[in-house]
Amino acid sequence: MGGGSSRTRRQLRRDRVRPVRHAVAPCRCPGHQRWLGRSALRSAAWCSHRGCGVDGGQERGCRADRAVRHGNSVALDPAGRHQAGGADSVGRSRLPGPRGGAGEGTGRARRGAWHQCGAEQAAEAHLRIACAVSSQVVIVGAGPTGLTAAALLARYGIPSTILERRRGVYPLPRAVHIDDEVHRILQVAGAADDFGPHGRPAEGMRLVDARMRVLMRFARSSPNGHHGWRESTMFDQPDLERALRGAVSRQRAVTVREGVDVESVEVGDGMATLQVRGARGPEVLTAQFVLGCDGASSVVASAIGQQAYDLGFRQRWLVVDVRSAADLQMWPGVHQVCAGAQASTFMRIGEDRYRWEFRLSDSDTGAGDDADEEWALRAVRAQLGDADTDIQILRTASYRHAARVARHWRSGPLFVLGDAAHLTPPFIGQGLGAGQRDAMNLAWKLAAVIDGRADERLLHTYESERKPHVVRSVLAATLVGTLMSVRGTAVQAAVHTAMRVVDSVPGAASAGPAFIYPRVGRSGLRLRERARRQSRIVGRSVPQFTSADEQGGPWRSDEILGCGYVLLSDGRPDTGLARRARAVRARQLDVGDFGSTAPAMRRWLHTNGARAVLIRPDRVVCAAVPIA
Ligand SMILES: Cc1cc2nc3c(=O)[nH]c(=O)nc-3n(C[C@H](O)[C@H](O)[C@H](O)COP(=O)(O)OP(=O)(O)OC[C@H]3O[C@@H](n4cnc5c(N)ncnc54)[C@H](O)[C@@H]3O)c2cc1C
Repeated sequence: MGGGSSRTRRQLRRDRVRPVRHAVAPCRCPGHQRWLGRSALRSAAWCSHRGCGVDGGQERGCRADRAVRHGNSVALDPAGRHQAGGADSVGRSRLPGPRGGAGEGTGRARRGAWHQCGAEQAAEAHLRIACAVSSQVVIVGAGPTGLTAAALLARYGIPSTILERRRGVYPLPRAVHIDDEVHRILQVAGAADDFGPHGRPAEGMRLVDARMRVLMRFARSSPNGHHGWRESTMFDQPDLERALRGAVSRQRAVTVREGVDVESVEVGDGMATLQVRGARGPEVLTAQFVLGCDGASSVVASAIGQQAYDLGFRQRWLVVDVRSAADLQMWPGVHQVCAGAQASTFMRIGEDRYRWEFRLSDSDTGAGDDADEEWALRAVRAQLGDADTDIQILRTASYRHAARVARHWRSGPLFVLGDAAHLTPPFIGQGLGAGQRDAMNLAWKLAAVIDGRADERLLHTYESERKPHVVRSVLAATLVGTLMSVRGTAVQAAVHTAMRVVDSVPGAASAGPAFIYPRVGRSGLRLRERARRQSRIVGRSVPQFTSADEQGGPWRSDEILGCGYVLLSDGRPDTGLARRARAVRARQLDVGDFGSTAPAMRRWLHTNGARAVLIRPDRVVCAAVPIA
């Protein structure tokens, strides 16, 4: 009997600590706009407000609130009634798969789901709307950063709603390069397979003079980098965005609403309120967290306030996408032509696709499509040294490149990610990648806090970890842009000589990537802080090893790591680390579990003097036990 009662107590204890998924939800009903805390939900006291017809017991909450509880989306019918549904509710736009076209309302209505909420009796219509459309995580912007954040949150079991003012993929020429770490993030987001056929292997970057003589090299040529993917891949940004849209469309936890412009964001009582305008007219939405992935003119960044750090870099460039059936015979990487006012960039990005970028004078805003295309055709042919080369200008766009980092990346429930948080001149191909890293860093932390598995303070580490990395890559890109633009014959000659000298130093070609990938910065994780001095791999990411699968295709070790914390050891793990690993619910893996990549994994541990490591969901090592 005693044993039985102790089992019961254990069971009770287990129940008490079991996290309530998506447990924190606001009640915005008139007369009861108070925050329902985690503890209230744990004791199943969902809402005691009569206006909602609820007197305890979560199954009887107003449908809008229940939808929040279960992570569903809720749409309003024109009369203001709630319609609960999953990602395929009427009026929601499910994004097309990689080959589909964008479309609205392709989903299926859930009949009989209309529900009259007590909130309708409210005198103030906006409160009624707010009650109806509350969502746990709202992502503003369906660019690469927003799509990746949504896909990652879905992988961690957190539903989200993306609001995007445009429809379809942004067609203008932008990013053309990603590295192996970004490729790994696409793998976790479920977009790597769709993206694969669109990527073209590259070998890094060369700074050359106007006569194409090499001044400096940045080698990124391994087909199998630290992260288990090619170190350098060329592509066309719309293809990447289509792959991400495909990944998002396969996640039922993500709702995408295109054609919805977020006009303002405000914070009150720890909740965010968004004023939005779409085909249905103005709406007011509330959210527990808002991720501003809304690019350079971010409305979320404005709501967070504070100026950005401006590195004072401003240059106008004309970007030209080119198609040619002829092989234009160029080294497979990025050429940065250091020619002062005539600086330019060119590279091959696909089988018959090339990219050129030309520096414009500061007063030149680009003459408009036709004039730009004629000018671009002449400029490309001049650089090729052949006036008859068969080339077709696909599209041109002029940009003013800037270098900027937001002072604050978070304010209460608001976060900024990607271009909303930082603008990187494109010269080292890292702007989009920085946004992907932001999403990877924040998504698991947000999921852990929402699920009640982590303290809210974990969210502070998003900015403190990401900012040092971003500042370095923005500085590196600004430096390259400045070197390319040095004017005056004498100064240019001196700078070019210095670049050749640096290039001749052994190891210089690989120093660039090492500079822009610093360790994860100071973290709020006490676990990591304690382990800080124990091993040089703490703060670094665990490598991904590849081998051939049964069909001869590539097999990658992250398939074993999964999405959560992992305690990886060679033999029995240290008991202290095992205890800490249990606290964060880490899976325990032995290097032997990694099949044909086990020897490589063991070698990595031993080379770094570690016997066991604790790995975060974003693949960063946060604690290590040294070999005795
Ligand atoms: C010429 C050029 C070359 C580049 N080359 C590279 C490269 O080689 N490698 C690299 O890594 N990066 C490169 N970049 C940078 C890269 O393109 C950007 O960093 C990346 O697109 C940023 O993605 P994002 O999702 O953060 O923002 P965006 O792509 O700007 O997406 C923001 C989205 O938010 C939406 N939005 C904005 N405001 C609202 C609102 N109020 N309501 C609703 N929706 C809203 C927008 O419509 C948009 O879809 C390049 C950029 C340029 C211009």
